[in-house]
Amino acid sequence: MIGIYGGTFNPVHFGHLRTALEVKELFDLQLLSLIPCRLPAHRQQPDVDAEMRLAMLKLASADMSGFYVDRRELDREGPSYMVDTLATLREEYPQTGLILFIGLDAFAGLSTWHQWQRLFDYAHLVVMTRPQCARSDLPVFLQQRVCANRDSLRQQRAGLLFFQTVTALDISATTIRTLIAAGRNPKFLLPDAVISYIRRHQLYLSSEQDSECKQNNS
Ligand code: ATP
Repeated sequence: MIGIYGGTFNPVHFGHLRTALEVKELFDLQLLSLIPCRLPAHRQQPDVDAEMRLAMLKLASADMSGFYVDRRELDREGPSYMVDTLATLREEYPQTGLILFIGLDAFAGLSTWHQWQRLFDYAHLVVMTRPQCARSDLPVFLQQRVCANRDSLRQQRAGLLFFQTVTALDISATTIRTLIAAGRNPKFLLPDAVISYIRRHQLYLSSEQDSECKQNNS
């Protein structure tokens, strides 16, 4: 089975990486594709260019075997709809089970995703949850797809919904951006190589820090 882990990754952090590793092992994935979006369809456009977000993902996953940083959404015009991404993966892997992994926050907004019901034509959906997390009432369309056993996902290539408990790390890219803009150190929230990249490219600075840097460099 192949896993798909999409996101803005602005920047990638240990919340993403730890859950990615856990699901890769738990689902015995032959590959986990990390797919940064170019133009997120459901949120404000990130201030950091997609190529830079991709470069940070590459640094973060450089020594992780079975992780693959996939640039397909960067090379596609228009909004980065996950349903289009899954359609291209299905074409490439017609016989393989595909699993799309999303966090609880993303799952809460699933019904706003472009053609969200069609996601299940191409892949299973696994929601990465916290232990004892209450599941809100699911629409019938989703209820009918829930499976209780992880191994059931091996029996078909797509179409099921599963909730997987993962280690909850309370880290978000928003917190990291806020810390950096406040001049604080984000160490231990994301890989050192990514922090070095952020410093080198002066990302996420507040407008005052930004103009100070530009003055110092001029
Ligand atoms: P932001 O703070 O900018 O909204 P984010 O940290 O939530 O960013 P995204 O790139 O938007 O990161 O998230 C990509 C995917 O990773 C989503 O499915 C999201 O639910 C999941 N995710 C993000 N942070 C965590 C975390 N700490 N633990 C588990 N999953 C996470």
